[in-house]
Amino acid sequence: MKERFIGNYGLEQVGQKVTAKGWVANIRNHGKLAFIELRDREGLLQVFVNSDIADFDKLHDLHKESILAVTGEIVARDERFVNPHLKSGQVELRAEKIEVIASSKTLPFELDNHAHAGEEIRQKYRYLDLRREKMTANLKLRHQVTKTIRDYLNQADFIDVETPYLTKSTPEGARDFLVPSRVFKNQFYALPQSPQMLKQLLMGAGLERYYQIVRCFRDEDLRGDRQPEFTQVDLEMSFVSEEDVRNLVEGMLKAVVKASRGVELTEDFPIISYEQAMRRFGSDKPDTRFAMELKDLTELSRGNSSLFLQKGLKKDNGAVMGICAKNAGKAFTNRQMAALKQLVMDFGVAGFATATIADGQVTGSLKSTFKDHNAELLDRFEAEDGDVIFFVTGSLKRVQEALGALRVRLAKDLDLIDDSKLNFLWVVDWPLLEWNDDLGRYQAMHHPFTQGAFEDGSDWKENPEKMMSRAYDIVLNGYEIGGGSLRIHERSTQETMFELLGMKKEDYERDFGFFLEALEYGFPPHGGLALGLDRLVMILAGEENIREVIAFPKNGQGADAMLESPSSVSDQQLADLRLDLRD
Ligand code: ASP
Repeated sequence: MKERFIGNYGLEQVGQKVTAKGWVANIRNHGKLAFIELRDREGLLQVFVNSDIADFDKLHDLHKESILAVTGEIVARDERFVNPHLKSGQVELRAEKIEVIASSKTLPFELDNHAHAGEEIRQKYRYLDLRREKMTANLKLRHQVTKTIRDYLNQADFIDVETPYLTKSTPEGARDFLVPSRVFKNQFYALPQSPQMLKQLLMGAGLERYYQIVRCFRDEDLRGDRQPEFTQVDLEMSFVSEEDVRNLVEGMLKAVVKASRGVELTEDFPIISYEQAMRRFGSDKPDTRFAMELKDLTELSRGNSSLFLQKGLKKDNGAVMGICAKNAGKAFTNRQMAALKQLVMDFGVAGFATATIADGQVTGSLKSTFKDHNAELLDRFEAEDGDVIFFVTGSLKRVQEALGALRVRLAKDLDLIDDSKLNFLWVVDWPLLEWNDDLGRYQAMHHPFTQGAFEDGSDWKENPEKMMSRAYDIVLNGYEIGGGSLRIHERSTQETMFELLGMKKEDYERDFGFFLEALEYGFPPHGGLALGLDRLVMILAGEENIREVIAFPKNGQGADAMLESPSSVSDQQLADLRLDLRD
């Protein structure tokens, strides 16, 4: 075993005779002498090779990424040659003996950090890709984050319990991955979308505080921040309030930021209601690193005869809203503006218009529309000459969502985002249910085990969509990094919930009978949360795709290019499972 990683050699080792083992990151052979950059997981070490040593010839046809064992003395570099970018930059190794431990073929792509290798080739040779400094750093960061989380939760008396992967469908709202059973004819396991019911049952088992860093599986369309299998920091606690859960998670995230970024977050995370988040930012996961808040112009537009405004106001729950981009008057070409319009219109809104401010006036097609409200409008947006106001009309929710997306896009295009910021935020007071047009029924906004908030004593069957829930989401820089809720812990309430979701008694008895029964044996009040570990690490690493922080991720289609998975199986395997394949 290595006593020390070679990337960590420094002045303390000067004068020592060592054997450094590592990969050849680079080699510069000048004929009479050569420099090798030897790398291990902790970094690079410069090796100086004089042609007078016997092994010099071994360098002639040495490919990059071969592994060497170089024996020699560590010497201090001359001050002129100190490399401040390397941990080992003050020293170098003077080679006396070189042994080639393993040679490498010519590489399929350059591992240089700046080289732009295609996604597919990087995946196919993931073990090479992971040798890149940035990728190794991402894996180390991930390790540090999970270690901090484990330390924090262990100290807070949580018990780490594993739950099965071959399990039964849990209603998190995505499609299940199914595994056919060989033993039980025509029956399937489902891979867990989360350990939701099991962690609740652990509360029923009296564990009081559970956590698990666990893989979850959801068969849904992939995006940059989604993978078919992903990791959650899953936790559940008994006898708690929402505030207890939030405080615990907030403390944990602060510890993670301290350990990974060296930054002490001292302020409490802001708490905002779902309704306010939609109203102010047009998003249930607002990015608060920049302002550009939405302004509601509905009242101001009511009596206005402009067709543009009236068309939107006529819609169900019609609204007129806008955002103001500072100094953006000259920022966009016509083509770019057309693309922004498309982005907005794709949300199904009624209308979109822009107005540049000049000489303290709205200019362009909306000039006359707002002539009587010019000052008020400018005041509301704090708009000045050179700014652009984007107006959107239509049904409130669509207008909000469209402007929310436009807001984020403008912030990126106009470079308004300070990348060094970590803006955490709690979103609370969610509706319990939302109507799903396709299904023709309500669906749970979080999941069906979430408690409703009925402080006013109203009957929750009377006005289901008005019911609020005891759920909370944690947001970081515009990403939902986690969510949870206080749970239902009485059988009758849980049954009512299933009924509201359109389930018949025989359906929920069949699918959730075991769970409902458990609630009848002294089940404690409880609540919890799950954090998306991949997303959290992605943000901390400054990456934009969770693949960059997962050792062996799937590609955009959900396939593994290295393992060539998914793949077909033998007829015998199919026969064992009694499966016939259709085209
Ligand atoms: N199981 C939930 C989810 O995966 C999290 C929770 O409610 O604890 O989103």
